[in-house]
Amino acid sequence: SPACVSVLSVRGLRKAFGGNLAVDGVDFDVHAGEMLALIGPNGAGKSTTFNMVGGQLPASGGSVRFRGSELLGLSARRIARLGVGRTFQIAAVFASMTVCQNVQMALLAARRRVYGFWRPARPQQHAQALELLQQVGMRDQAERSCSELAYGDVKRVELAMALAGDPALLLMDEPAAGMAPRERKALFELIRGLARARGMAVLFTEHSMDVVFDYADRVIVLARGRLIAQGGVSEIRAHPEVRRVYFGS
Ligand code: ADP
Ligand code: MG
Repeated sequence: SPACVSVLSVRGLRKAFGGNLAVDGVDFDVHAGEMLALIGPNGAGKSTTFNMVGGQLPASGGSVRFRGSELLGLSARRIARLGVGRTFQIAAVFASMTVCQNVQMALLAARRRVYGFWRPARPQQHAQALELLQQVGMRDQAERSCSELAYGDVKRVELAMALAGDPALLLMDEPAAGMAPRERKALFELIRGLARARGMAVLFTEHSMDVVFDYADRVIVLARGRLIAQGGVSEIRAHPEVRRVYFGS
């Protein structure tokens, strides 16, 4: 598995909702190019952690450094342009547009990082969109409307859109939610292949422990807003507190 250079360093991260500490002083690193699973029971604080890292939710305290830059306090847009990609549990494509148009939109949004102002789509963008669709196995569906796609295919389009910004780190909160086991494995197979090919790190949550243990290089475990364990798959499988808190055994 990949070398231990940190792309993301999270220290003392906290989020209070009223008197409820949803995230209570969390420390972890994401290493360059790794598949890192964030697991824990419902309500553990996984999505809240994602939302603070991605800039969708202000933190109550702590620090999140991405390749040396502090992310806390930056807008979601700035964070994306620094090279942190993100997908959401609820699909975020424009249903009335074609697959290719959605990816072209994402490419345009990412290009603003380089040029600093909006530019109209050009043929080059179309070719780049097709290339990204090729990478997620959706090249032959480029001209279909997103409203006609199967659920799993929408997820692939979203993945292509997230890749448009050429992220060094991709945040995926339950990317396979609502998928059948076979489809779930196929999506993770694709994600890991892309991560390896691009040297991209992926921080993901996933309910199925089979999938986590098959596709993660490392696992971090949250329970009630605190990190209770981290390590390789075999360590986490055997960890007594993880078994007790997470698997109830
Ligand atoms: P997970 O993704 O691990 O299931 P969440 O991060 O969604 O957990 O939630 C962690 C805790 O924070 C839960 O107790 C949840 O009820 C609470 N919470 C999450 N979002 C909000 C919010 N917007 N307002 C108030 N409480 C919230
Ligand atoms: Mg969640």
